[in-house]
Amino acid sequence: MLLYREQYNWKSSTCLLRTRYFTPSWCFRGRFIFGRPTSPPDRGGSTAPPCTCPLSWGRLWTPETFEKSRLYQLDKSNFGFWSGLYSETEGTLILLFGGIPFLWKISGSLTGRFGLGPEYEISQSLVFLMLATLFSAITGLPWSLYSTFVIEEKHGFNQQTLGFFLKDALKKFVVTQCILLPVTSLLLYIIKIGGDYFFIYAWLFTLIVSLVLVTIYADYIAPLFDKFTPLPEGELKTDIESMAKSINFPLTKIYVVEGSKRSSHSNAYFYGFFKNKRIVLFDTLLEDYSPLNKKNDGESTDQDKNEETEDETKLQPKHKKQGCSNPEVLAVLGHELGHWKLGHTVKHIIISQLNSFLCFFLFAALIGRKELFMAFGFHNSQPTLIGLLIIFQFIFSPYNELLTFCLTVLSRRFEFQADAFARAMGRSTELCSALIKLNKDNLGFPVADWLFSMWHYSHPPLLERLRAIKDTKKQD
Ligand SMILES: [Zn+2]
Repeated sequence: MLLYREQYNWKSSTCLLRTRYFTPSWCFRGRFIFGRPTSPPDRGGSTAPPCTCPLSWGRLWTPETFEKSRLYQLDKSNFGFWSGLYSETEGTLILLFGGIPFLWKISGSLTGRFGLGPEYEISQSLVFLMLATLFSAITGLPWSLYSTFVIEEKHGFNQQTLGFFLKDALKKFVVTQCILLPVTSLLLYIIKIGGDYFFIYAWLFTLIVSLVLVTIYADYIAPLFDKFTPLPEGELKTDIESMAKSINFPLTKIYVVEGSKRSSHSNAYFYGFFKNKRIVLFDTLLEDYSPLNKKNDGESTDQDKNEETEDETKLQPKHKKQGCSNPEVLAVLGHELGHWKLGHTVKHIIISQLNSFLCFFLFAALIGRKELFMAFGFHNSQPTLIGLLIIFQFIFSPYNELLTFCLTVLSRRFEFQADAFARAMGRSTELCSALIKLNKDNLGFPVADWLFSMWHYSHPPLLERLRAIKDTKKQD
C-alpha cells in the first residue's frame, strides 16, 4: 500500500474493452475546484483560504508552491477530461459499429490461414486478444506521450527520454502478452472442460495465478523495468530493522528503487507473503539518497554521468532539495507497517477474492444466454472469451463502479488508521512533516472538493490527514 496517493501514473489500459471510471460531471467538478480563482495565501495566512483550514497556510505552503500545485492539478484535470472523453467516444463507436464482431472475424480469418478452423476457438481467442491489446496500446500511446512529455515535463517531474519511454512501452507490451496469452488460454480451457461447476475451478485458477504473480512480480517482473538495490548499511537501515522488530514485522530485505529514472515523484511500499516481507523505498523519498539532490549539490561523479548516458535518462536536478530526512522516512514506514499490523492487506485480498468468486458465479449463470451475445453482434456463435468480456466489462459495469466506490471509502478509512498507528508509535510530528514534504515534492493540491474527493481519492486529502493526526494528538 502506498503512503501517498499516486498523482502521475496515467495507465494505458491493456484491453480494448475497459471498465469505465470516467464521468464527465466529476471531471468538471475537479476542474472547478482547481480552476476557480483562489488567491494563494500569503505567508501570514491573511488571505482567506478556500476551505476551513486548521493550520496556518503560510507555514505549510508558500504562495509560489500553492500556485505551482494549482496549475499542475489543473493541467492534469484537463488532461483527464479529454483523455476520458476520447476513451468514452472510442468505446461507444466500437460498440455502435460492431468493432468486436469485426475483430473476431479478422482473428478467425488469420487463424484460418494457418489451417485452424472455427473449432479452434482458443487459438482464435488469443489472436483476438493480441490484436485488441495492440489496438489499445497504439491508440493509448499519444495520450501517454502527451501526459509524460508535455504535462509532467512542464511541471518538472519527467525524467525520461523519448528512447527510454518507447523502449519501456515495448517491454511492457511484450511482458503483458507473455503473461496474458498463456493465462487466458488456460482459463478458457478450464471453462470449456469444467462441467457444471466450472466457475469454482475458474475462480481457483485465477486465485492461484494472482498468488503466483504477486510472488514472482517483485523478484522477476519489476526488475525488468526498474533497478532495485538493497539499502546500504547505516543508521537508517538499523533504525528500520529495529522498528520492524518492535512490532514483529517479518522484514527480510529493504530495497531502494530508482524511481528517479522515471520521475521525481516519491513513494514507499512493502510487499511479500507470510514470513518474507520486503520494504521498497523510492530513491526520491530519501533526502540523502535522491540523485536529484546529489546533482543539485554538485556531487555528481563521472561514474554517475556514464550510468545516466547508458540508461538514456536525463536526471534534472531540482531547484529545491526533495525527499524526507531519516526520522521522517521512519514515520512514513510506521504508517506502512500500520497497514500490515492492522490487517489491511489481508482484508483487501479477502474482499477481492470474494468479489472474484461472486463474479464467476454470476458469469456461470449468464454465459448460456444467447441474447447477450446477439446484442453485441454475435448471432451465430457464442465464444467464451467474448462472453467473459461482455459480462465482466459491460454487464458488471454498474456493480464495478459501486464496488470501486466502496473500496475507495474503505481505503480512506485504512489510511486514517495507519496514520493513527504511526502516531501511536510516537512519530506523529515526523509523519506530519513528511506528509507535508511529500505533498510539496509531488505538487499535491491541498484543497479538495468533498464530493470529488469522496468519489476519487483512495487517500484522504492532506489537510484532513493532518487534522486527524493533530486531533488524536490532543486526545493523548
Ligand atoms: Zn497508506
